[in-house]
Amino acid sequence: MKKVLGIYEPGSKHWVGDGFPVRNLFPSNGVSDAIDPFLMLDYAGPAAFGPSDKPRGVDEHPHRGFETVTIAYQGEVDHRDSAGNAGTIRPGDVQWMTAASGVVHEEKHGAEFTRNGGTFEMVQLWVNLPKAHKMTAPRYQGIVSEQIPVAELGAGASARVIAGELNGARGPAATFTPINLFDLRFKAGSKAELALPDGHNTGLVLLHGDATVNGTPLQGEAQLALLSREGEAVVLEAAADSVLLVMTGEPIGEPVASYGPFVMNTQQELREAVDDYRAGRMGRLA
Ligand code: MN
Repeated sequence: MKKVLGIYEPGSKHWVGDGFPVRNLFPSNGVSDAIDPFLMLDYAGPAAFGPSDKPRGVDEHPHRGFETVTIAYQGEVDHRDSAGNAGTIRPGDVQWMTAASGVVHEEKHGAEFTRNGGTFEMVQLWVNLPKAHKMTAPRYQGIVSEQIPVAELGAGASARVIAGELNGARGPAATFTPINLFDLRFKAGSKAELALPDGHNTGLVLLHGDATVNGTPLQGEAQLALLSREGEAVVLEAAADSVLLVMTGEPIGEPVASYGPFVMNTQQELREAVDDYRAGRMGRLA
């Protein structure tokens, strides 16, 4: 069994632009090496928005050196980037954007959500890239809900497999290093053992509900359980209907230098990223 190393509340709460009221699960909690290759997890909402004339969100900004993964639970996000990709991320969809050498994008509430308002709930996860891939070409995977297979875990428990593999279900997301990302739904009273790779750092976020991980309780919303690299399984048991996000990854184990939206290996590379962005070498939004 993987051991529970710690349970964490959100380490900070803030707004990203005017559209995303987030609770940050890491790195605000001081966990970084233990969750490598994952860099950051923001849980936006659930939050109610009224109708608006103008889409709320984040204006044009760059990223370099890693991937942003946006998982939509409620509401919708419109995305547009300098590589020419655009789309709307709707409930159940996942956008896996490889910024790599550099992307400029904007993230806004979708047109219909802006017009009507409603409840907004998303996760954005940042996944690091190894040095060998930090400067490769950007890539965009717009994964719609129907492409994500469901692994049944027993009575009342199932997992949508976004990346990696679980019980023979293979996720559609292509990744640069071995990663599993599962969107779990447990009905009250259900219990299941999840096979997870030995040697992978492992985090589990309870979005809603009341559950235990190897007997350790996760109560309330937005809690992170950090699990040991060693071990091949966890046992989850839900006392109420629960939604959980499970991530595992092979550690990259390289130096991390970060400055805002840039995550590289050295300070010099960060200075180059700032220069390249300012000079327009990450492109512009059309
Ligand atoms: Mn962004």
